[in-house]
Amino acid sequence: SQKTSQETLYEKDEQYMWHHLKPYQKDQNPMVIDSAKGAWITDIEGNSYLDGMSGLWCVNAGYGREEMVEAASEQLQQMPFHPLSNSHIPGIQLAEKLNQWLRDDYRIFFSNSGSEANETAFKIARQYHHQNGEPQRYKFISRYRAYHGNTLGALAATGQAQRKFRYEPLAPGFIHVHAPDEYHLPSGQSFEAWSLECARMMEDTIKWERPETVAAVIMEPIITGGGVLIPHPSYVKEVEKICKKYGLLLINDEVICGFGRTGENFGYQNYGIEPDIVTMAKGITSGYLPLAATAVKQELYEPFKGEEESDHFRQVNTFGGNPAACKLAIKNMEIMEEENLVARSKALGKKIMEDIQPLEDHPNVGNIRQMGLLFGIELVANKETKEPISNEAIGNMIAECKSRGLIVGKNADTVAGHSNTLTLAPPLSITDEDAEMIV
Ligand code: PLP
Repeated sequence: SQKTSQETLYEKDEQYMWHHLKPYQKDQNPMVIDSAKGAWITDIEGNSYLDGMSGLWCVNAGYGREEMVEAASEQLQQMPFHPLSNSHIPGIQLAEKLNQWLRDDYRIFFSNSGSEANETAFKIARQYHHQNGEPQRYKFISRYRAYHGNTLGALAATGQAQRKFRYEPLAPGFIHVHAPDEYHLPSGQSFEAWSLECARMMEDTIKWERPETVAAVIMEPIITGGGVLIPHPSYVKEVEKICKKYGLLLINDEVICGFGRTGENFGYQNYGIEPDIVTMAKGITSGYLPLAATAVKQELYEPFKGEEESDHFRQVNTFGGNPAACKLAIKNMEIMEEENLVARSKALGKKIMEDIQPLEDHPNVGNIRQMGLLFGIELVANKETKEPISNEAIGNMIAECKSRGLIVGKNADTVAGHSNTLTLAPPLSITDEDAEMIV
């Protein structure tokens, strides 16, 4: 019998494609997506789904933005590539625009992915201290449950053991501390008190490691893939204070939290802190083309102006800051400005939260966390003990959502091997109707 073109594609996918992240399952029939518009994606069989995860937390401006495609296309015709050892107009313009969104004075190093943006931050932090008279500062403090990327340094910074297993040893010098989790407090503690205790333990760790050997703290303002953990504002402020006290740089990983996801341009802006280094990717182009940036406070650049041959940052990134990707990113940000998508994220996120909060009465819904259009719905088998629901149950829920036309995600496994938090991060451009469907 004649094979349909879909069947052939599934067969070739099975034969040639090495899928990201997923365990191998011969008959799993992966979704092969063919087209996308607004917040909706359509597979090769014609099934449409509301993409409640914006791809991989990245299609912030939504799919099918012709102006973005045109901007990139024009740039590809005019000048498709030039290395950033020199410069090009879209790169300069985007660096300026990022400064407007950051509302401060940063110098921008472009690369292609969140992992690279973080690697760049680590190297800049180490070299900064080196050239600032403190060459012994090489360690980084990071948090359990955080994800910072797949390369050997960014994976070392990652606080999810299951992702590191079988790839170790990774980069040395990364030390992990606990991030406060509002739903799992030690008995009798308030969230604020426990958050400050976690900050105090971070300070203790820095002291045990000897502060003069520590280069920086890296944190996502809100841990995203690790379970959407919204911090208490006092905690974020306290971490900033500790960094200042011991001369550490504060690196904020905004790979997911940036570009309006949390209802501000960048996640840290919810907390009134001023990170020394901000890393970003994903939403910078709404995922249309690869691009990432490491934004570094201007004053940190000073030691890199030195006269020694080795004083400059000896890093090249061939594709980093590709002119078409930069041009597209500018258009992406312009669209977000014109359509007020950052404010929409804040307002619509709040509205959806009001509508789904009553689900907390359900015996299997432990806790719902939200900031902007970023949601984590922690599911439990038992509300008293907070025992997580089984991985099978959450798998069934994700499948059920999909069968009803909604894509949702889940957090990475915890140390106990549970993925028990459903995640939602729809495009910031979703319509009210789409939002109702999610609810
Ligand atoms: N940092 C965070 C917070 C992320 O969520 C991710 C990816 O999901 C990364 C870094 C790594 O980004 P990339 O996959 O572009 O290397």
